[in-house]
Amino acid sequence: MQSTSAPAMAQGQVNPYDMALQQFDSVVDMLKLDPGIADILRHPQRELIVHFPVRMDDGGLKVFTGFRVHHNIARGPAKGGLRFDPNVNIDEVRALAMWMTWKCAVVGIPFGGAKGGVICDPKSLSLGELERLTRRFATEISVLMSPDRDIPAPDVNTNPQVMAWIMDTYSMHAGHSVSAVVTGKPMSVGGSAGRLEATGRGVLYCIEEAVRRQGKSLDGMTAVIQGFGNVGSVTARLMHAAGAKIVAISDSKGGVYNPNGLDPNLLVRHRQERGTVQGFRDSEPVTNAELLELPCDVLVPAAYENQITSLNAARVKARIVAEGANGPTTPEADAILRDAGVVVIPDILCNAGGVTVSYFEWVQDLQEFFWDEAEINQKLRRILVKAFDAIETAQDHHHCDMRTAAYVVGVQRVAEAIQTRGIYP
Ligand code: NAD
Repeated sequence: MQSTSAPAMAQGQVNPYDMALQQFDSVVDMLKLDPGIADILRHPQRELIVHFPVRMDDGGLKVFTGFRVHHNIARGPAKGGLRFDPNVNIDEVRALAMWMTWKCAVVGIPFGGAKGGVICDPKSLSLGELERLTRRFATEISVLMSPDRDIPAPDVNTNPQVMAWIMDTYSMHAGHSVSAVVTGKPMSVGGSAGRLEATGRGVLYCIEEAVRRQGKSLDGMTAVIQGFGNVGSVTARLMHAAGAKIVAISDSKGGVYNPNGLDPNLLVRHRQERGTVQGFRDSEPVTNAELLELPCDVLVPAAYENQITSLNAARVKARIVAEGANGPTTPEADAILRDAGVVVIPDILCNAGGVTVSYFEWVQDLQEFFWDEAEINQKLRRILVKAFDAIETAQDHHHCDMRTAAYVVGVQRVAEAIQTRGIYP
């Protein structure tokens, strides 16, 4: 059986669930949270672990392990992505589910927090194997899924096609099309305009807002992007279009650097042809570790957790760290960055564009009435700026950094929902 527990952490790294708990604990006293409510929020509400067979192309059967965790559903149906990854484990999913709870509350959308994943390496699966794995996993977690209970979405190594298979599988069981059961779908099956770009667009809007509040402009600023998947590539393209100079970009194999700027649109084409950003013309190679320490105005981690740690935080030269990824900065690194005057736009705000447009997709599916992209982007910006305002107010009140202030806002809203509903029975 595949191990469901977290592997031993490398030096400086922190178990993501411990990280999430530490971040939560940092605001319990500030909010004077009732100890009972705090105890509820320290625990995931429910966790499903499934082991399921998939028929492989060679005719044999292989058993895979998957997870779906609901952290809290006091504010609405459970919402959160699905990650297909060899290293995904129960603690990572617990942390990601908890972060989803705060994220939905910070941007004020009526969802609770969830996350899921399957231990697998999608790069080693054929398309047919990936489809059968997805459909069987969707069936296994369908005991939790429905448009009013639990609505998955894409995350690392899952994409609109995977979401379409989930929608189709659920619909086959229901006997009719249920598009609102999953978001991040292709537009042909009830997806929303702007959803594919939403997380990266939200990262851009947050960076623009942070820069604007410093009395500066993004035009001419330098940026480094770690990760060139959905979030990293869209962020890079939109920042480039907004006038920023993207000096370095990486993927899992390594990075490319040019102090005069890289064109992310050409890099997307290069990656499509070569499967990696490496070897891009007019660039020099950098390692993933070096990339995080390059001189720049804005650093966007858009890959995994545990990237900026106690070991490298002091060497980060960016003045703004915009967390496209979930949990890229450990609590120890956070303190080092704070002391160095680096502004960290926390994940639960910075990458909330994805779940916000997922909310728009769900609303459109339920109403069978679709909006155009301009309307989506305008509504997205309004929601993120409003969240920024709430966080700034909390920051002024508590004299704290942005992450702590975002937790104050998010945790308070969830605690209030629990208190208002009361404890059943
Ligand atoms: P993805 O699978 O599309 O891309 C991940 C990218 O990271 C790939 O380019 C991969 O090569 C790269 N990568 C992996 N290890 C790396 C390393 N050590 N150094 C540099 N690059 C590395 O995933 P994604 O959807 O873009 O998600 C990235 C992060 O953003 C995750 O933390 C995810 O939870 C978060 N996120 C995603 C969404 C979304 O809508 N997809 C929404 C909110 C948050």
